[in-house]
Amino acid sequence: MLNVPPPSALWHFRPQPILDESFSSWFCRTAWQNGLYPADLYRIALPGARMHRIDLDRFACDELVENLAQHTGINTDTLWNRSFRAWDGQLNEDCSKHGKLLWLPPAGTDRTCKSFGQQVCPDCLREHQTPYLKRHWRLSFVTGCTRHQRLLIDRCPECSAPIQPLFTSAHSDSVAICSKCGFDLRRTPQTSNCHHTDLTIQKDLIETAEDGWTYMGKYSDVYSLSYFRILWVTYRLLATGQFAKSLRNWCSTHLGEAIPSSNIPLIKEIELLNPRCRQALVRHAHLLMQDWPHKFVAACQASNISSKDLIKGYDKEPFALWDTVRCHLHTPSTETSAEVIDAAKRHLLSQDICPTYKELTQLIGIKFQARRHMAESGRNCIHYGVHRYWKLDGVSSEIRTAAKKAARREGENIGPWVDKVLRLALEQNP
Ligand SMILES: [Zn+2]
Ligand SMILES: [Zn+2]
Repeated sequence: MLNVPPPSALWHFRPQPILDESFSSWFCRTAWQNGLYPADLYRIALPGARMHRIDLDRFACDELVENLAQHTGINTDTLWNRSFRAWDGQLNEDCSKHGKLLWLPPAGTDRTCKSFGQQVCPDCLREHQTPYLKRHWRLSFVTGCTRHQRLLIDRCPECSAPIQPLFTSAHSDSVAICSKCGFDLRRTPQTSNCHHTDLTIQKDLIETAEDGWTYMGKYSDVYSLSYFRILWVTYRLLATGQFAKSLRNWCSTHLGEAIPSSNIPLIKEIELLNPRCRQALVRHAHLLMQDWPHKFVAACQASNISSKDLIKGYDKEPFALWDTVRCHLHTPSTETSAEVIDAAKRHLLSQDICPTYKELTQLIGIKFQARRHMAESGRNCIHYGVHRYWKLDGVSSEIRTAAKKAARREGENIGPWVDKVLRLALEQNP
């Protein structure tokens, strides 16, 4: 028969969560106050487990939170409300599932890349005797401090490392210290001031996320989950891709902005954009969401954005977006069917013309890249080869095939194998 463990005693030091503190911030403070590293506290609270590099605001498990509640006397709901779980159903469906979350990028690392999901206001950190992290600082549409009216920072000003308080050295002010170089974030030089408009937009968005719904023109009351999904689609269009510049110009003109939006880099990994860039893009995205869907439709039409650019799978997008696109931005499919291509091929062959892609597109009148393989190759030469490492002009196809075979025999890729053979030949004939 198993022995039932006695009820655990409360830990000696049990700091209460501060007003709007995040879960990981409270976890750090609890660790330091008990003379532990956060990783040690994790192992004690969850016997046998290791913290590694998990994002604790997102991936704290039920057992961890229940054990922490048991040892600190703090209600589990109070702790959950400080984690990402508080945004489930408001911003994302379920944060415990793997995959990217909208508006909540990881803190520290995203797989093997840096991720700047933890932001701080240096003034707020300096203001409190015990610095702590606010839970709203994890939201990527939050870019400024409403109290100090300045931009947040999302990386160490000294070494550019992401802010990761869970991995700092033993220090009571650990959440204010860079985990990589030890720089005190409270000493960050003054960042830019935030415009009143941006702080108002941010406040509106936080309220929408907390209320769980908002008003969207003819669609009336809409769940915040749908609203933030549409805001994300809009934000992404502004941040990257072929329409970004044109959309940004449209927004800048309508907002009467003096500073061109071209000073925001066009990068694919939009989660890496710093608070300054995100603030400008959120301002633009928020403008396009106003008076829904009229501004959005006008901006898309001015930028030649149509349904195929906006909706990839009809079942995935919120109704307010899907219906808007269907009513105002729908473009008929220009895809050429296989039957049409077959008929065109038959016609060309009857005229003794080889049905190449060029001949077929001239006859049909539209391009059909997706079915290009149905056209005949107009070339009589042998295909050069398909291996991407194997493109050396002047090497015959027989030698290429033989070399690939030899490399495979030796368990090598073709590149290193060719390199080895060439080195050998050069050594013999210096
Ligand atoms: Zn502040
Ligand atoms: Zn640093």
